[in-house]
Amino acid sequence: MARKPQKVASPRGEGMSSNRTGIDFQTPPPRRIRGPIIDAHTHVGNPQMAKLFVEVARTYNIDKVVAISTVEDAEALRKRFGSFFEFFYRPPFDGKDKPRTFKKMTLERIDEAVEKDFKALKFWFKPQFNYDQKMYFDDRRMYPIFERAGEHGIPCLTHIADPDVWFERVYTSRRKFLTKRGNYKQFRNAFRDFPEVTFIGAHMAGDPEDLDHLQELFDDHPNLMVDCSATKWVVREISRQAEESREFFIRNADRIMFGTDLVTFPGITDFGRYASRYWVHQIMWETDRRCESPIDDPDAAGVPKLHGLDLPDDVLEKLNWRNAIRVFKLKKPRVRTALPKG
Ligand SMILES: [Zn+2]
Repeated sequence: MARKPQKVASPRGEGMSSNRTGIDFQTPPPRRIRGPIIDAHTHVGNPQMAKLFVEVARTYNIDKVVAISTVEDAEALRKRFGSFFEFFYRPPFDGKDKPRTFKKMTLERIDEAVEKDFKALKFWFKPQFNYDQKMYFDDRRMYPIFERAGEHGIPCLTHIADPDVWFERVYTSRRKFLTKRGNYKQFRNAFRDFPEVTFIGAHMAGDPEDLDHLQELFDDHPNLMVDCSATKWVVREISRQAEESREFFIRNADRIMFGTDLVTFPGITDFGRYASRYWVHQIMWETDRRCESPIDDPDAAGVPKLHGLDLPDDVLEKLNWRNAIRVFKLKKPRVRTALPKG
């Protein structure tokens, strides 16, 4: 009998991995194609917190990681791990109620981050943020930020909306949180008003449930890219409509980047905690396997399922690295780990 979802958790899956499936995460399956892999969406703290994560990423043939980090952590991570990491800068919003100072301070901070070779900006405009902060993505206070991003030629990664199921169980007040579709107006306005800025919609632009809607967004806004991060959420919804998803990934191969949304936490010693995400993504994009997903998913009805898309080689290449080097203006990373022959 299908298990009813117990509670709503973070879409990135911060719960511990129980390894109910008994998969040996220490030994990744062989990669299907050669070439680098860039994880275009992670959250990484200081080098101590990053150590195990880097070990796992390298084990899974990840050659570069784009991380949301503070300026201080970024400096320390560069010292310790060289060019393995590139960085997103996430501007703070605490001073936003004094618009003139906010503008001046935020633009200065962005300039400084770009000077320190940060490659992109990160924003988090979930319904709860909109409601708590009374601020939407198309707020006039955001426009100087987008303008500056355009001048620097850096993309803006944004968390948009949340899973459908959250709108049924968490964001139940339409007055406070709008409908899910209603959330997209703020993003569309910004995409339209800043055609020179590349916007990246995190987690399949927040709507892996509705590929027709995503296609509309892509068709209406040529400056929109997405990443396939938030492993649980994306795998749940993409697996549910695997055939349509495969077509969607092929049709929009130039617009989708690989990413995990992995977050480093202090004190994590469980290799499988990070590795299970990389394992799931690899099976998901590279194979046609149908199996139980090893990542617990309280939002799924019953056992979480994975249905691989077995993407064509050229689509995989774009997903793995070609799109990321174009969007973040990176050099093609050196492939660190030789793949097994055959
Ligand atoms: Zn994230």
